[in-house]
Amino acid sequence: MNWENNVRKVVPYVPGEQPKAEKMIKLNTNECPYPPSPKVMEALQNLSANCMRLYPDPAVCDLRQALADYYKVNVEQVFVGVGSDDVIANAFMTFFNSEKPILFPDITYSFYDVWAELFGIPYERIALTSDFRINPKDYNKENGGIIFPNPNAPTGVLEDLSMIEEVLKANPDVVVMVDEAYIDFGGTSALSLLDKYDNLLVIQTFSKSRAMAGMRIGFAVGNEKLISYLNDVKFSFNSYTMNQTSIAMGVACVKDDEYFKTIVDKVITTRERVKGELRELGFSFPDSMSNFIFATHESIPAVEIFEACKKENIFVRYFKKPRIDNYLRISIGTDEEMDTLLAFLKQYIAERQ
Ligand SMILES: *Cc1c(COP(=O)(O)O)cnc(C)c1O
Repeated sequence: MNWENNVRKVVPYVPGEQPKAEKMIKLNTNECPYPPSPKVMEALQNLSANCMRLYPDPAVCDLRQALADYYKVNVEQVFVGVGSDDVIANAFMTFFNSEKPILFPDITYSFYDVWAELFGIPYERIALTSDFRINPKDYNKENGGIIFPNPNAPTGVLEDLSMIEEVLKANPDVVVMVDEAYIDFGGTSALSLLDKYDNLLVIQTFSKSRAMAGMRIGFAVGNEKLISYLNDVKFSFNSYTMNQTSIAMGVACVKDDEYFKTIVDKVITTRERVKGELRELGFSFPDSMSNFIFATHESIPAVEIFEACKKENIFVRYFKKPRIDNYLRISIGTDEEMDTLLAFLKQYIAERQ
């Protein structure tokens, strides 16, 4: 059993359940409830056998160019990866190499500490305020880098660009990463700050607002030097991370902006309606600018509601973690799905009171 002494032992990230139930309402991993653009399906159908036979373009030029055109940056400023999880993992490996701890909020995406442990990066969790806000002054200390999502997950709280700028101004000597997985649902992207701050890396994903979680596409935008360092690490690890199918479908997705805006607007409209209905049922939550609501009930423990929903094949997310173990993270589904959830909650809460 001596070989076990040399094993890298890690505590892995636990993703939300992907249940196999036939009839279920899946509101636990923040996927888009709508299908991707018909143009994306067309791109899939048009793939040739040759593109399966050959290696894909290791530099992923087509998709990077489509993103560069869309976000009005140079193609050398864009990096793509297999979901933003892959992009962020590569970025941790590339940019967080200090002896000083990297900083991120105590309540945040639970993959950050997993990557830090995996790569042996020291880290410190900075407590959010009691109303789940980031106080930029807390990031005004010695560190080896900074990462936070905006809007934050799982709280849904959006910070404005002046907060981000304050963090950037105080930390010119480290890389600051803003994980914008949910920015399309009502926030203003930090992309506009790229010209001013060469240590800023903005990371986004096709998994939420672009309805393509299954295709695994994420990207980072930063200054050309930052992106070239990121590419050096990627090419030292695996040249062909992006498969040809995802690349072709990703390009078609970026080019159909009208469809993209339509589905995002639908999610936002449903979210705003559901906020009102949840309040009426006795829930409260920080105002969400994402495609989920992080809610706590005035009398019933979150874990009990979570279990009760699960019995009905309605899946929401529950985190058994300090400060948030009485909250449920409820993804925004279709209007019909949300109505089923709300009807169940109404009945369940009435029976309990
Ligand atoms: C969903 C999510 C990601 C990862 O998304 P990918 O599917 O890997 O692109 C990254 N950060 C946050 C905050 C997320 O919620």
